[in-house]
Amino acid sequence: MPELPEVETVVRELRPRILDIPLISAELLRPDLLKASPVGAESFADFFRGRRFISLERRGKFLIFTLDDGRRLLAHLGMTGAFAVACEGDSQPAHLCSVYHFTGGLRLDHVDARRLGRLALYPPGADIPVLRLLGAEPLDPGFGPDTLLALVRSRGGAARRVRAIHPLLLDQSLIAGVGNIYASEALFRAGIRPQRRASRVGPASLRRLAPAIQEVLREAIRASGTTFDDYRRVDGRPGEFALQLNVYGREGQPCRVCGTPVKRIVLGGRSAFYCPRCQK
Ligand SMILES: [Zn+2]
Repeated sequence: MPELPEVETVVRELRPRILDIPLISAELLRPDLLKASPVGAESFADFFRGRRFISLERRGKFLIFTLDDGRRLLAHLGMTGAFAVACEGDSQPAHLCSVYHFTGGLRLDHVDARRLGRLALYPPGADIPVLRLLGAEPLDPGFGPDTLLALVRSRGGAARRVRAIHPLLLDQSLIAGVGNIYASEALFRAGIRPQRRASRVGPASLRRLAPAIQEVLREAIRASGTTFDDYRRVDGRPGEFALQLNVYGREGQPCRVCGTPVKRIVLGGRSAFYCPRCQK
């Protein structure tokens, strides 16, 4: 599943290719991808015709495309979503969900094999409710050990005591953009076992965790994200961060620090990976 570094990579790579280029038309091939959208599928083509994108931003795992008249397209890649830059005349990719035709022969393909992603269209000035539910941006300058300490402590007594730290990091209303891969990797760097109850993680460990989250996200962005199966950069190349993973997807393989076999555990229905020796 694309997480913060993968979505950030897509945003950074799309900006120089699609911004300020007039759109000729757009098509929605899979209307079921339009979810909780104030503007309906019947208006999809009109929404984009003759306009151009003037900005593209990321918030959590969402992409926010803004048109020159202030309308916005919200996109979430779900498990298998991707945007790919193509040329008119290139063959149509499998699982095409929406497509954007620009002047100059540029085409933007949006594919999603499992269609667990989402698109939504907003008129100028319209609120995007789902963005208000998102928690802190871990790469914001203001995010630090104190932020993380306050966020974890603020999750309420009973709920916090029974909750393991790994699922807590996946909670998008707490920290936006962290998913399975980077939660496991950040906990490894901070020396914290994923199944440790959040309430039992001491302040010193939490203070190590904040920079660990930021480090792993920044390094992953530098490597253009992690490709396990579906994620691709906008030109079709894979991200390179899989080569640098310490624990994620490495069950049974030796820990890169101490050689102990990496373990996998399922928490809240999601796999977490850890070194039983390096992480306490
Ligand atoms: Zn180890």
